[in-house]
Amino acid sequence: MPEDKKTIDPSEYSIIAWITSNSFKSEKGEVLDFKDRLFLLDILADWSKKIVIKKCSQIGGSVIFNLKLLFLLSKLRMSAIYTFPTDTDVNEFVTSKTNKIIEQNRHVPELATLPTDNVQRKEINGRFAFFKGTISKTAAIMTTADVRIHDEASRSDQKILEMYESRTKASEYGACWMFSNPTTEKDLLDQEWQKSDKKEWHITCPHCSLKQYLVWPDNIDLKRKEFICSSCKGVIDRETRRKGYWEKTQPESSISGYHISHLMCPWITAEQIIEDSEKDQEYFYNFVLGEPYNPGDLSVSRSTILDIWTPQKLETGKYFLGVDVGNIKHYCLGSDKGIMKIGTFREWYELDDILDFYKPVMVIDAMPENNMSKYYVEKRQNCFMCYLNRDKEKNRIITFGEGEDIGIIHADRNRALDQLINAMLNAEFLLNITADKMLREFIKHWETMRRVKEVDKMGIERYIWTSVNNQDHFCFALLFWYMAKMTIGAGIVIDFNQKPVEAIIRRSDGEFNNIGEALEELNL
Ligand SMILES: [Zn+2]
Repeated sequence: MPEDKKTIDPSEYSIIAWITSNSFKSEKGEVLDFKDRLFLLDILADWSKKIVIKKCSQIGGSVIFNLKLLFLLSKLRMSAIYTFPTDTDVNEFVTSKTNKIIEQNRHVPELATLPTDNVQRKEINGRFAFFKGTISKTAAIMTTADVRIHDEASRSDQKILEMYESRTKASEYGACWMFSNPTTEKDLLDQEWQKSDKKEWHITCPHCSLKQYLVWPDNIDLKRKEFICSSCKGVIDRETRRKGYWEKTQPESSISGYHISHLMCPWITAEQIIEDSEKDQEYFYNFVLGEPYNPGDLSVSRSTILDIWTPQKLETGKYFLGVDVGNIKHYCLGSDKGIMKIGTFREWYELDDILDFYKPVMVIDAMPENNMSKYYVEKRQNCFMCYLNRDKEKNRIITFGEGEDIGIIHADRNRALDQLINAMLNAEFLLNITADKMLREFIKHWETMRRVKEVDKMGIERYIWTSVNNQDHFCFALLFWYMAKMTIGAGIVIDFNQKPVEAIIRRSDGEFNNIGEALEELNL
């Protein structure tokens, strides 16, 4: 054990002075410049024992915490445990960030001879940093430390994070810094955030002098694509956003909390944020707004369906077909404006008849068995088979196979349903189907769908769609139709959002008859 066991009071040293006097470089070799990231400076110099940061993506957080870690070891003479969701994340972080930063800054005395060969451990003068995945084949770190740093806390095994609490008990300092893109409400990060002093990046309106922090959508003018003051609606320029300041919104707490969103990043435009808002909502909340995603009671009711019902024909000459496979097959046939025909069949020749007659672009379920769907993909033109699973890449809801995989679609089941339901709620497509038993079935299937919060075995939460009685076949037939419509120009990767549905006239624009009329027509 080193003789100088006692740790040093962080307030005696300035990390900012250390970084600027040494002209620290980033992992890319560029001299660190906080001009556009002033909001990181306070975080850099914050030595509170409890820090929680809920953040958006790509703000340079990993550089900050690498510097803090190196400062902690070399100047404050403390040790740290640094966790990530998995060992793979550790590997990526240490090799592509920590080691690169060390190598770019060999001119700094403390880093001159620091080895970069060990991914799990760094040592500076008898002080250690241990890196570890929460989901790991090897045992958790048993050693104690002065600081626990939990990176991507919301995507880590929540039970393991709690277990690490005991590792800093012996230290006089005993700090815990936690940061992540949030997931859902009420995970460990969100609980800590709720208890914290909840600092938000405030700006002062140059027109009316109102102090405020920027929130979606109040501070964005969707038409002019500008940041605006929530009160006087005057334009908030880049410089005003850049020169903000942190202010507590819950001052009585001793936990230091920061919320970082793309709204406060001066290099990100209002236009970019509006574009992102039209994509996957979970992604937008977690990675753009830095907020948990809470979809609330999103559901499709009878009135949702009747609201998009129209007596008008939706023919455009192009046909799209979605087929859900089971003992009984369910299908939705329509144009790019909406659904014209729904139904069921038992025998495959019945599908052949539909294909021969309408020559649609078809997306067919690749599950539960894919012999027939494979057959159609190989033998017929414009046929695609779709696997519904969970896409790890958050921003990509649907992927059309390329090259050898042409004809194969992979889609994130729950996010794709979110997207479809949002499209229904926004009347982005319509239904012109006969009011008969089938429509009643269609409505019934939708009414069985519930969105529930699921907690996996690592304690990570997400929202999934389930049917209370598994009678959801028309929902998936509609989803496959929706994907079929997206294949216009297939062979490339398409986000649902990057290909906006053709503009359609909504009820409010007078295309519909009133709902009473629709109900009467539908005899429901
Ligand atoms: Zn104002």
